[in-house]
Amino acid sequence: MTAPALVALRDVGKTFPSGLVALAHYDLDVREGEILTLLGPSGCGKSTVLRLIAGLASPTAGAIEWSAPQIKNNIGFVFQDATLLPWANVFDNVYLPLRLSGVSRTAAALRVEDALEHVGLHNFSRALPRELSGGMKMRCAIARALVTRPELIMMDEPFAALDEVTRFKLNDDLLALKRRLGATIVFVTHSVFEAAYLSTRIVVMSRRAGRIIDEIAIDPAIERNDDFRSSKTFADVRHRASQALRVSIEEAAS
Ligand code: ADP
Ligand code: MG
Repeated sequence: MTAPALVALRDVGKTFPSGLVALAHYDLDVREGEILTLLGPSGCGKSTVLRLIAGLASPTAGAIEWSAPQIKNNIGFVFQDATLLPWANVFDNVYLPLRLSGVSRTAAALRVEDALEHVGLHNFSRALPRELSGGMKMRCAIARALVTRPELIMMDEPFAALDEVTRFKLNDDLLALKRRLGATIVFVTHSVFEAAYLSTRIVVMSRRAGRIIDEIAIDPAIERNDDFRSSKTFADVRHRASQALRVSIEEAAS
């Protein structure tokens, strides 16, 4: 059974004023509860898809359809750079989205603490960003995205700059968080390994105007752990995703 689409891109186009066509005739359903990963070479339009869904940019053609308008008004966004305010401590960085929507510091305190607890940073609320490791900065950015309790979270290559050990740890923590919160996640990565490990569905995009080359579903019931990493399913998904990515890159070069 396919879950209903929270948001759907229908025949979407995005042409920049320069004339560059980032997306053309692009269709994508984001279904409730999934971890949907967009995989594709640099410049294929992955960030553009996230920005359109988040309302940070508008399509130049087609439509974005929402199952419920309140979801659209509360989307969590995590960027590749943690983008923390350097002069503000962890608490204040996470408080920011609530502050911007007019919630007082006192009224926000429990929700900020709760978000910090979710990412394991509850003992670091007074720390400044420069005192945190790369992984902790990213946890702080994730807490900031969670603090408004969004049903839909966009993550744009959030772990790309981290070393592999930290990345694996954050992958597992993200999955645990997902189990606790039940939110829907749209995730962007360059990494076939990361896509195969995290996703319930992978969409491989071509550099040519974001065309979708392949779509790979992974049973959400399969537990993601070290056994999964050494399973045949994981190897099969990786193999298929790598092949699609190769087609995508060859298309880009031709
Ligand atoms: P990805 O995230 O897959 O690397 P992007 O969505 O960032 O790709 O970009 C898709 C294409 O659109 C690229 O060719 C990029 O240079 C171009 N692009 C992105 N943002 C803008 C912009 N604001 N103005 C002009 N071109 C842009
Ligand atoms: Mg990008």
